[in-house]
Amino acid sequence: AREIHLAAYPKGEPTPTNFTLAERVLPDPGQGELLVRNLALSVDPYMRGKMTGVRSYTDPYEIGEPMDGAAVGVVEASGDPSYPVGTTVLHGQGWRSHALLPVSSVRPVNVTGDLPASAYLGVLGMPGQTAYIGLFHKAEMREGDTVFVSGAAGAVGSVVGQLAKRNGAKRVIGSAGSSEKVRHLVEDLGFDAAFNYKDGPVRDQLVEAAPDGIDVYFDNVGGEHLEAAIAVANDFARFALCGAISGYNATEPPQAPRNLFQIVAKRLTLRGFIVGDNPELVGSFYRDVAPAVAEGAITFRETIVDGLENAPRAFIDMLRGANTGKMIVRLGQ
Ligand code: NDP
Repeated sequence: AREIHLAAYPKGEPTPTNFTLAERVLPDPGQGELLVRNLALSVDPYMRGKMTGVRSYTDPYEIGEPMDGAAVGVVEASGDPSYPVGTTVLHGQGWRSHALLPVSSVRPVNVTGDLPASAYLGVLGMPGQTAYIGLFHKAEMREGDTVFVSGAAGAVGSVVGQLAKRNGAKRVIGSAGSSEKVRHLVEDLGFDAAFNYKDGPVRDQLVEAAPDGIDVYFDNVGGEHLEAAIAVANDFARFALCGAISGYNATEPPQAPRNLFQIVAKRLTLRGFIVGDNPELVGSFYRDVAPAVAEGAITFRETIVDGLENAPRAFIDMLRGANTGKMIVRLGQ
């Protein structure tokens, strides 16, 4: 198997030299094991947090070891009759060409119609679940709410905006980092308003996009975005704190938000959450969201980078905003 290893913990923005490509010979699968050839790998923002040598909500990656992460692949050799050769599975040993896995650690994926297996790394996988759980169960979005989502053109944010629209939000506003992404949000995904946060102060642009304030904020970005959302929030607004990507490569503490007292004055609710804490909601996610994806009522984009050797580049570029929708590393068909 070919594997990407972490060579060194990045300082600030990761560079290709933080990663190395290594080879390993995998044994044949024993009883209850599967040899899986990976078709598509996920690179996700949370992986940056595992490149620090300090435990956050998961253990850090180890130097000189293959990294893990979500992947979909096809069973090439099987030690379990319920997973015959050719079965497509979702599992946690990404960043490599092949994986030897206990069957207990894989999940079969039901690829239907025109959906690629890689959809299980994005809209039908962990990012889609994050959008669903955060919007409905953490921010408790209700019909008639004005909803603001940052990182709106990414894997999580693009699902948040579409779910909010489909579930009766009065107005859905998104921010993203390019004019093309802003166009995509409004024209392709049905957002009511969107702005490029690089065009000017987030607060000024949000005031303009949300003249009646916001009731829900889904935060993927933190920092200046969070400060602006607090400033523009209506009384009793609810925030799902999902991520703070503006700070993931930072070497200094953030400068914002500076207006935390307004949380008190406006009686806001801010709830941090981690998707994996709510396995009981995954069933309702698949019941509610998967049919809409299969019908095309919820759409999704993928930005595809080919080749395992380009996975580090895809990860670095994702952190810089090169992706619209989910960033996927494709290894095969
Ligand atoms: P995305 O697909 O959204 O990719 C990351 C995006 O972040 C980039 O495309 C870029 O878009 C944006 N970005 C990068 N730097 C900045 C910056 N300084 N300011 C604003 N935007 C920036 O990733 P995901 O959808 O997978 O993840 C989105 C967020 O959700 C992340 O914060 C992640 O950590 C979090 N998350 C949390 C989970 C949880 O359980 N709590 C689970 C999954 C994700 P642009 O061009 O718009 O800048």
